[in-house]
Amino acid sequence: MDVPALSATEARVLGCLMEKAATTPEHYPLSLNAVVTACNQSTNRDPVVHYDDDTAEAALTSLRERGLARRIKAAGARVIKYSHVVDEALSLDAGARAVLGVLLLRGEQTPGELRARTERWHTFATADEIDATLRELADRGLVAVLARRPGQKEARWTQLLTPVSAPESSPVATHATPEPDVATDDARTLQSAAPMARRLVVRDPATGAVLDELDVDDERAVDGKIARARAAQPHWAARAYDDRALALLAFRDLLERDEETLARTTTEETGKPIRQSRNEIRAARERVEWFVDHVPAATAPSTVTERVDLVERVTYEPAGVVAHISAWNYPYFVALNSVVPALLTGNAVLYKPSEHATRTGTRIVRLLHEAGVPLDVVQLVVGAGPTGGALAAGAVDVVCFTGSYRTGVAVAQAAAANLTRVQLELGGKDGAYVCDDVDIAATAAAVAEGVFYNAGQSCCAIERLYVHDAVHDAFVAALVEIADAYVVGDPLDERTDIGPLARFEQLDVLDAQVADAVAKGARVVAGGGRHERGAGWYRPTVIADATPSMRVMRDESFGPIIGVQRVADDEHALVALDDTDYGLTGAVFTRDRARAERILARLDTGTVYWNCSDRTTTRLPWAGRRHSGLGVSLSEAGVRAFVREKAWHEVPPHERGG
Ligand code: NDP
Repeated sequence: MDVPALSATEARVLGCLMEKAATTPEHYPLSLNAVVTACNQSTNRDPVVHYDDDTAEAALTSLRERGLARRIKAAGARVIKYSHVVDEALSLDAGARAVLGVLLLRGEQTPGELRARTERWHTFATADEIDATLRELADRGLVAVLARRPGQKEARWTQLLTPVSAPESSPVATHATPEPDVATDDARTLQSAAPMARRLVVRDPATGAVLDELDVDDERAVDGKIARARAAQPHWAARAYDDRALALLAFRDLLERDEETLARTTTEETGKPIRQSRNEIRAARERVEWFVDHVPAATAPSTVTERVDLVERVTYEPAGVVAHISAWNYPYFVALNSVVPALLTGNAVLYKPSEHATRTGTRIVRLLHEAGVPLDVVQLVVGAGPTGGALAAGAVDVVCFTGSYRTGVAVAQAAAANLTRVQLELGGKDGAYVCDDVDIAATAAAVAEGVFYNAGQSCCAIERLYVHDAVHDAFVAALVEIADAYVVGDPLDERTDIGPLARFEQLDVLDAQVADAVAKGARVVAGGGRHERGAGWYRPTVIADATPSMRVMRDESFGPIIGVQRVADDEHALVALDDTDYGLTGAVFTRDRARAERILARLDTGTVYWNCSDRTTTRLPWAGRRHSGLGVSLSEAGVRAFVREKAWHEVPPHERGG
């Protein structure tokens, strides 16, 4: 997000939301009343102001329109509450929020003042820490240092969110009436002139070309779509299962009919090599069929007690309205894993594709409509994070989210206000162990596929590799040979193995992981940096002599890069494999099934692989543990994410004998 231009009132309201979230979380989010009180507080504010409800409400509306605040209405609650979303909109951690918040509320500050005044928000252990935070915020254009005045020991810092701020020399004011909103008009003009705020621009990561520009669904539009879905859902649920199944089978056929156009669309907007886009669409068709065949069994009523005096049974009803917020990396799998079983079980669906796969999402929804799913039963929701946030906080019955751990937590928090059921499929840092008995060439090929397929942008890609000492050097050499031979190029070219990354920010993450690893003693044995091909490409990278403290072994890379650590034996490998906050998958490569099973049985992951990796199937449950997710998708267990059980206790009337 660009640096937002706020009026003084908006800055005060935002600062108050940030402050209360940090210092009195038990009373947060805030009602309008609480916002007004917080704004008019006479302590920790500079200047002191006296806002009325209308002033604060206007600022809240404007902050919501810019994706900086959110309105929350808990089911059954009368009072609407407000929360800020600067951590998502501006990617701020707790320290950065504290510094920016105090600058918003108290004006210019020295680093020393900031350290003291952020105490209740966040602990900066040293002065260096606060300096580092200020520098990071300055690099992003959110704060700036002011020229030191004569006699001043420390320079003062200011925030840059209010472009028209009061002159530096103006005296501290105590306003008896609301302060004049000097920046409001400027800010509103800026906002309406900024197309990104209301329009979503879809670009080709390979060429930078604009592929599309779409209207974004704001909170009001999202609420309208939810209402339409709510009205349409009972009619869809009332249809016979075979009717719904026929529509989904027609959709499967349309995926086949349009395969080439669809694959091209996905490749153009995500950078996925065209062969891989086709593979995904073909496999997605099989998934549709599997769901059509298995939903009836997964949701069949069952009688658990059948006596003359008591019958106990279970039936399943649709959950209602399902929101699906999607990642871009496997847009067909990720979307259809939720959308298809949700529709088959009689729900209405609101589907928000990632901003990086919105054209794919548009095509999926169009084909579902063409196949016979009514317009309001499946609807596209267009937008980036704030739109997803509005959907998660909306009056829906299930939120299915696929994306990063960080966003998953935000989604769960937004859904919590309504106690909406959430299903989270999140990131991973999946490890693989190569034992000392493997066929080196074959295993290196299998591992390379797990690391580099889709340029490593798979939730279950191999992201950490542990190789037994006895085969380590030969194995690394074989892996490097494969990495060096990959064709890095135009994703539309049939020969290409590795295209550009969909999200260019990730290239900085990869650079930082390589630099950190090298600084800590690792060796780059393949790749190691950006590819000369262009802005989005990264060279397939292998880092040897990795150790557990390196970022490449701890943080999700989501790119074509792998850290390799040498291990002495199976026990060493097991400890290393489990040394992560994530719990998506783990893999062991060995000829010995019993050996693999001994290790895999002890891994704390939802999925384990013997001699394979980076694969999912509709037939098995997909359930990340710890930071990798919540709930189950795929398999019959995954189907039941979209239904509600109804328990029947039936006592037949007692017949008296004659
Ligand atoms: P993100 O978490 O960045 O985004 C996921 C979705 O959430 C997008 O549609 C995004 O919108 C939306 N979003 C962003 N902010 C918010 C918010 N505050 N509230 C609601 N929705 C929001 O992930 P990516 O799209 O970059 O996907 C990559 C991640 O997904 C990786 O961590 C990967 O491991 C994980 N993943 C997990 C899978 C699994 O099965 N476990 C499968 C596939 C991916 P927008 O993109 O438009 O900003």
